[in-house]
Order: sequence, then C-alpha cells, then structure tokens
Amino acid sequence: MNTIILKGSPVSKSIKLSLKKKIDKLVNDGVIPTLVAVLVGDDPASEIYVNSKHKTFIKNNCKSKIQKFDKNITESELINFIRKMNSDKKVHGILIQLPLPENINERKVLNTISPDKDVDGFHPLNMGNLLLGYPNFIPCTPAGCLEILKYYSIEVQSKHVVVVGRSNIVGKPIMALLSQKFDIGNATVTICHTGTKNIEDYTKQADILIIAVGQPEYVTSNMIKKGVHILDVGINRVSDNSNKGYKIVGDVDYESVCLIANSITPVPGGVGPMTITMLLKNTVEAASQLTK
Ligand code: NDP
Repeated sequence: MNTIILKGSPVSKSIKLSLKKKIDKLVNDGVIPTLVAVLVGDDPASEIYVNSKHKTFIKNNCKSKIQKFDKNITESELINFIRKMNSDKKVHGILIQLPLPENINERKVLNTISPDKDVDGFHPLNMGNLLLGYPNFIPCTPAGCLEILKYYSIEVQSKHVVVVGRSNIVGKPIMALLSQKFDIGNATVTICHTGTKNIEDYTKQADILIIAVGQPEYVTSNMIKKGVHILDVGINRVSDNSNKGYKIVGDVDYESVCLIANSITPVPGGVGPMTITMLLKNTVEAASQLTK
C-alpha cells in the first residue's frame, strides 16, 4: 500500500497564514500577543521545547518571555509569580513547562493560571468546558491532531477512533473532542491504557488510530488493520550510532506499519510541529478575547 505521509509542516503553515491577519490587526491596535513561558530547573529537553516555542512566537510577530526559575523555587513563590502574570495586562498567555520538580504540586500550580490566559488548556474550567462541548482553549497537541485530520480530509464522522493513552494532556482531551457532535468528531471512540487487556483486539478495529503512550515503536504491523489512518503523538529518544548518540522515534514502528496503513504522521515532523502552532493560535485568541 502506498501510505500517505501526513506531514505537520503544511498544516502548520496554513494555520500561521490564517493567523497572520489576526496578529496584524492586534498589532495595529497596539496589542502584541504575548506568552510567558515558565521554566523551572535545568532539564535540557524542557529548555529545547521552550526555546522553540519562543522562536515561533518571535517569527510570527508575537512576543514570548521565558521566565527561568531555579529548581529550588518554592511552590508559593511560583504561585505568586503566576498571580502577577494573571494581572499583567500585557500578558495574554501563561505556559508552565512540565514536568515541574517533585516538591511542587503541578495541579495546584496549573490551577492558579487564569482560565483566560490558560493557552495550554489544562485548567479545570477549560477542560470542563471542552467536555461539555463548549471548548475555548483546547490543549495544543489534541488540537493539532484535529487540524491534521481536517487538513488531510480524513473522514472522522461515524468512524471508529481508537486512542491509546489516557493522559490529561493528550488522550483524554482527544477522546472528549472526537466523541462529540463536532464537524471533526461524531466518531465512536475507544480509549486504551495499561489496564486494557489484549490491546491489539481494539487497535485492529481502528479506522483512525491515535497513539500517545511514550513507548518507542510500540505499535507494530500485527496490531492494525489495512487502510487505517495513524496519528503518532509519541516522541521518544532511543540510542543509536549517530554522532548525537540518539534518534527520535514515535510510538509506532513506522517502517512496518507503512506497508499497511492508509496514512501516518511521521516522527519527527508530524504532530510535533502542530503543538507549537496551536499554542500560537491559542495565545492570539487569548489576546483577542482579553482586549475586546
Ligand atoms: P503520559 O506518560 O502522561 O501517558 C501515557 C499514557 O499511555 C498513559 O495513559 C498510560 O497508561 C498509557 N500507556 C503507557 N504504556 C502503555 C502500554 N504499554 N499499553 C497501553 N497504554 C500504555 O504521556 P503523554 O500523554 O504526556 O505523552 C505520550 C507521548 O506523547 C510521549 O512520547 C510524549 O513525549 C509525546 N508527546 C508529544 C507531544 C507532541 O507535541 N507531539 C506533546 C505531548 C506528548 P496508564 O494511564 O494506565 O498509565
């Protein structure tokens, strides 16, 4: 089978193009959509993520400030900083780069972000509204998955979508979105996790398979049916003999499923670039809403 590669870059490009008009208008009105990204500690991967978010914002005429804190910052110091950002009129989006050090209660910190500036969509109010069918800020990776389905005209209505992974940031919001009566939705959604027995019995039924487990090359050809569309959310570092000493692979054994799947997102270059683009989109939206 000639598998279609669902690259994220053209999708991301077309969204940025449609955002340009909105950004130009805001800037003309004296409002520069601004993100504050909070980075605690010195995790190199987190630093890379925050820096690439920063670059995207600058490239698109928006502002991004990276606020770094030592890993020994206390929970209350961090919460105080977020409260300050909540009331800063020049800040439209607040992002906490996860994971946070163990001594800090992640949920308490995320719940402090004003729902109006919660551009990651992790606040219970935004999650609750999403579940009720009135999403405002949709978590960026699930939103990116929806945009890929839309851009490549992959029919979702009445299809069987199987999601593997039930994290709050990927699996659960995807399940909530695709099961609702939305244009990109109205599907029958099955969600699998470590408590699911014989996972391949479910993955083999999928018309659309969305994998977010964080296990390198977890899905193999014997777990899917012919013609399935696969969105591989996983980003895993595995050692190899290259100069870097590692390569990035997804949660899907790309080579083997490629012979069977109708389409698949590559890793890297598939869902990954969409996440940052959706963060930009949410921040521009937040700036519009806050300055109405
Ligand atoms: P989490 O670790 O928070 O969640 C993983 C989920 O997968 C859990 O629900 C877990 O089940 C389930 N799981 C793990 N192993 C298995 C297994 N063997 N069989 C069935 N289910 C399993 O991960 P995230 O959702 O945060 O991330 C998942 C992957 O996506 C990672 O590789 C991450 O790097 C990547 N990612 C990529 C992003 C992007 O921009 N493209 C953004 C966010 C994440 P249980 O709940 O039972 O423990």
